[in-house]
Amino acid sequence: MILWTMLALVCSCAKSSSESHDFVTYVNPLYGTLSNSSFSTGNTYPATARPWGMHFWTPQTTQSLRDGWIYSYYKENLRMYGFRQTHQPSPWMGDYGQFSIMPFTGEAAGIPSSAFSHKSEESRPYCYSVYLADYDCLVELTPTSHAAAFRLTYPESNVSGFRVDADGEIQIDGKRIYGTSSLNRGGVSENFANYFIIESDTGFEAVGDNVFVFKTSKGQVVNLSVASSFVSFEQADLNLAEVAERDFDTIKEEGHNEWNELLGRVAVSDDRKVDEKKIFYTCLYRSLLFPRDLSEIDGSGRRIHYSPHDGKVHDGYLFSDTGFWDTFRSLFALIDWVYPETAMAIQEGLVNHYLESGFLPEWGSPGHRDCMIGNNSASVVAEAYLKGLRGYDIDTLWEALVKDAHSVEPVSNTSGRRGWEEYYRLGYVPSDIGVKESAATTMEYAYDDWCIWQLGKALGKDGLEEYEKASQNYRNIYRPEYSMVSGKLSDGSWNGELNPYKWGGDFTEGNAIQYTWSVFHDPDGLMELMGGKEAFEHNLDQIFDLPPFYDDSYYGFQIHEIKEMTVMNYGNYAHGNQPAQHIAYMYNYCDKPEKTQFRVSEIMRRFYTAGPDCYCGDEDNGQTSAWYVFSALGFYPVCPASCEYALAAPLFTEVNVSVPGHRALNINTKGDAATKKASINGHKLGTIIKHDDLLKGGELSFR
Ligand code: CA
Repeated sequence: MILWTMLALVCSCAKSSSESHDFVTYVNPLYGTLSNSSFSTGNTYPATARPWGMHFWTPQTTQSLRDGWIYSYYKENLRMYGFRQTHQPSPWMGDYGQFSIMPFTGEAAGIPSSAFSHKSEESRPYCYSVYLADYDCLVELTPTSHAAAFRLTYPESNVSGFRVDADGEIQIDGKRIYGTSSLNRGGVSENFANYFIIESDTGFEAVGDNVFVFKTSKGQVVNLSVASSFVSFEQADLNLAEVAERDFDTIKEEGHNEWNELLGRVAVSDDRKVDEKKIFYTCLYRSLLFPRDLSEIDGSGRRIHYSPHDGKVHDGYLFSDTGFWDTFRSLFALIDWVYPETAMAIQEGLVNHYLESGFLPEWGSPGHRDCMIGNNSASVVAEAYLKGLRGYDIDTLWEALVKDAHSVEPVSNTSGRRGWEEYYRLGYVPSDIGVKESAATTMEYAYDDWCIWQLGKALGKDGLEEYEKASQNYRNIYRPEYSMVSGKLSDGSWNGELNPYKWGGDFTEGNAIQYTWSVFHDPDGLMELMGGKEAFEHNLDQIFDLPPFYDDSYYGFQIHEIKEMTVMNYGNYAHGNQPAQHIAYMYNYCDKPEKTQFRVSEIMRRFYTAGPDCYCGDEDNGQTSAWYVFSALGFYPVCPASCEYALAAPLFTEVNVSVPGHRALNINTKGDAATKKASINGHKLGTIIKHDDLLKGGELSFR
């Protein structure tokens, strides 16, 4: 009898899970929008877009088009100022090419704005709608990759209309509005512009000062078709075909289906964990927004792109708006594995970045920008090829890696490698040559050199000794009396006393306690330096056991990344910033996988919430999200280009991963204790699973 009841329960769960294929309904773009400058909780805006779409749309709860997203949409600002086409990747990079549209009714004095409520707002990846109370107007928008459809439902009013906010001149031709936006924060050629067209299905009775007015009857719908291009008005006109004279609901359904197909490649069947599914699919959605695909299809059907580097139009793909310092860690592992068709296009885009500018981007937005450290494009390139992606010009990418390792991009002074001569000559980047955050830079260059070495071997290249040797350069800044890495001067002496709690200085948005673990490629070597497994384990324990002490003197104030560490009551572990995010997985390398399982499950539970304060720091273009996606599946790419993943334990009882061209992978788990052992198709695994095993598919079990 009991057995029958249990079976019935199992059957009903299986039935309901097989019916709940609408993965996109779990996504909430408002998660991570309770963000301000002292508490980021994601620093994300509700992006309504197609996956990797060229233009995103966001509601704007701030007056100025120039405000960054910390305040452009803030969950507690209940006044709406417009609906912005945005290309902003990060609060710190600023927006570019942005403009906005704001409907209104009544006398259009000044800048229109309206009260709204989250109760009368619907935010989905593929559509956004809100009721503007002051104007009795319902706004709905749904985007394609290069365009968007607006459906505006007005009340009876002699003066209805909308205002367009853009920095450039606006021209009118019948029901069409032509405008440009050249707003940017650098990293573009002088001729950069976003050319946009807004086509209304209702004629204008009056026009003035970017305000377009018509008369409406009760419930009258006005449709706007909006498209834009970084190439030209002619190209914007071609892009307009994605929405012009098409039914709003059809476009919306297409967007829904496109998202659902991509999200559904990782199909969670565990109906006990509804909040976790919401977090999971919101994280997966945020993993599929960046890098942005800047390519457009011209009149002859060719894929082209405007190059921010030389201001010309070239063939093929170009992706931008990602900082590899953040995203090399796990975002590209996710795309390379589950979305290989996009991964190959991204690699082709990297080829084009190099051909058009002479460098691979480190922080592209859309051109080379001065932000963060490292030469982690090497990881992104090596990982994709070593994981079997083909169909792009790897020889040119190899040339780019070698060149970038031995030069620095002159305009941004960031792409390539700052301090490369001293780095190769001395074996580290010294603290006294004007290269910021030198110890962190050394750590990342050493890993980057390991990536170049691995790729070079796979390509049969000669002259790899330099990279093999340099991959060990982390040892040169290891300071035994602290068991940590430290800043070092050109003369070989240490850069003063090491304060392990000090953020910044020789480190990047982190401290020595955290950055010492950035030896992704050689944990055994780090263990040897520390004195063996027990010392390695002890030092890991310390991170979580220490009080959340910090020294913020480098910044002169408590940066939000520090605050987000202190408030979590989780020691000196700073999950809110990227350098720490692999650390819990390092226990695997000292044969303590149970500690990895325990910590990873705690971090998933404590640092992510199903709500507007979802994240514990900046989400950062998919990286903090991809960490959750992998961790929920039970493994993580500690060393992305190694094609291996460190195991933990899955969050959900069952997940099916479908990668095009490969047999599906069923990941399942039973039991709650942090002592699980994994097997793939019946073969026992240690603490690692190989990428090939994921691709072969079958059954990955945790018991
Ligand atoms: Ca960050």
